[in-house]
Amino acid sequence: MVEYKGKEVILMACSSCNIKKCEHCYISYEGDRTPSELKEIATKLAETYEVYINGAEVLVNKEYFDSYKIVNQNWMLTNGFEIYRNPDILDYLKERGIEIVEMSYHFGIQDKISKINNAMLEKNIEYLKEKGMKFKLLVTISTDNYNMIDRMCEKAVELGAYGIEFTNFLNQGNAKNMDSSNLLNAEQISNFFDQLLAVRKKYPKEQLVIDRSGLFGKNNNSSSCHFNCPAGTDMVVVTPDNNVYSCLFLAKPGLEIGKLENGKILLNESIDNDGNLCLAQELCNNNNEEFVSKVLKLKK
Ligand code: SF4
Repeated sequence: MVEYKGKEVILMACSSCNIKKCEHCYISYEGDRTPSELKEIATKLAETYEVYINGAEVLVNKEYFDSYKIVNQNWMLTNGFEIYRNPDILDYLKERGIEIVEMSYHFGIQDKISKINNAMLEKNIEYLKEKGMKFKLLVTISTDNYNMIDRMCEKAVELGAYGIEFTNFLNQGNAKNMDSSNLLNAEQISNFFDQLLAVRKKYPKEQLVIDRSGLFGKNNNSSSCHFNCPAGTDMVVVTPDNNVYSCLFLAKPGLEIGKLENGKILLNESIDNDGNLCLAQELCNNNNEEFVSKVLKLKK
């Protein structure tokens, strides 16, 4: 086995979720860490790597937030349900150094995929503003809403978000039970990229930070596209059962690339990912199993 020498580690606290998972949820691993276990591992890994803590839904146990300061993380991801149910939780989070909340807000498809509705999310936005916290909206893009990018950005500005981030609908986890007609084809992805370039011109970063996940792959039509997939080379994911995966979207039994052992991240073999393709998109949406198995050196 070889020790992981890359930069980032995403430490998954749990697989639990307070709304028992959205229709499109990609989470494919099982298990929850105890808060003390999380703290111990975060402390150890932060000596060597940039560590980020993630869920599924981290607010299922607020004691997980005792680890955020240890890894210098001032932001968190959430589905928003716990904030709606108990807005006072924001004071608790602020005390633990959280300044930025990144919250799911799926324009046009929220009711189709989540038990939390837009009115609840907009109430949360009022609470966040009252507490002076910055927020970013996390939007899943499917065939239903891919052509609304400008409207989404306009609404994000109107709501007072500092940023918006688009994630491609991925055929993974719960989403596998949904109709495959939700998946964007190559032409729709290209159209999405064109809209993205247009809104980035329209909204200066000071007004709205516009991000997109790697799940759309490289935009071959744009010379300004800096796509680089770091999966397994500069980023790994550690799940609560101490398995190591190449990417959050590929954290699924059978796709392990290593183990966390005695505080060390050990990979089965060094990973040769040239970064040109999104491995999760290739495996889940493009059925390019052979390519991903080869890159991740998965045993058949
Ligand atoms: S496989 Fe690579 S590009 Fe795709 S989401 Fe994961 S890290 Fe990002």
